Amino acid sequence: MIMKISRETLLKTVFRSLILTLAFAGSLFAQGAPDWTQPFPPFRVVGNIYYVGSRGLASYLIVTPQGNILINSSLQSSVPLIRASVEKLGFRFSDIKILLISHAHWDHCADSALIKKLTGAKYMVMDADVPVIEDGGKGDFQYSHSPSSFYEPTKVDRVLHDGDQVKLGNAVLTAHLTPGHTKGCTTWTMKAQEDGKSYNVVIVGSPNVNPGYKLVNNTLYPQIAGDYSRMFRILKTLPCDVFLGAHGNYYGLEEKFAQMKSGGPNPFIDPQGYQSYVAERERTFRSELERQTAAAK
Ligand SMILES: [Zn+2]
Repeated sequence: MIMKISRETLLKTVFRSLILTLAFAGSLFAQGAPDWTQPFPPFRVVGNIYYVGSRGLASYLIVTPQGNILINSSLQSSVPLIRASVEKLGFRFSDIKILLISHAHWDHCADSALIKKLTGAKYMVMDADVPVIEDGGKGDFQYSHSPSSFYEPTKVDRVLHDGDQVKLGNAVLTAHLTPGHTKGCTTWTMKAQEDGKSYNVVIVGSPNVNPGYKLVNNTLYPQIAGDYSRMFRILKTLPCDVFLGAHGNYYGLEEKFAQMKSGGPNPFIDPQGYQSYVAERERTFRSELERQTAAAK
């Protein structure tokens, strides 16, 4: 009897500390990494695509003769950094006509309301992410109790559906629904022209399973595991020459930027790197799903 009680107590203590650890990891995650607010030199990636994000949070400017498209408004404090990058490249912040995002998480969308106010840009978001964007992050299946991940609720001007195109000037971007990480997580594709050649560009939304994500018995997102599988199926079929994503660490931004400065072929043209990345992320997802499935039995 005494043994039983102490084992129960022990189990309770272990369980409680596990919950505390998870909560701590979750709140750390919500606060973000230091490199999210560190400036990074803006530069032309390929064709009319420019990097205007911070060291850790990617934003892209697609430049056309009819105005520009910005992908990812990033954190609530990111506008001065993005603006400085846009202007350093010789473009005008007010020429941003369309605002897009990778997915409805605060590190990619929190400054959208301010950018809309400053530029009058039309905000276009994938259907399943729209309710979360319009309630400022409170409706997110994972972070609804994490106020540090909330942001100003932002009106979406155009609701996108899987396969929809966004056109401005000579730029055509296609929105691919790649759900799981968020319900409306979006991978953008477009073509870029450089030195007489045309390249398929892929900007990955996010293939990552965040700390605390429940892949099994998730009452707020029952189809989450199936959505991740669908996402990997789609990522594997997208033709990719130029590999980009919502965070620079998906595709080795810093290493490739350093390589680019030293000359030679454009390091962002990296079809092999894309394939390996997607395969590695899928393996990580599968093993996490197996772990959670076994634990739920
Ligand atoms: Zn995210």
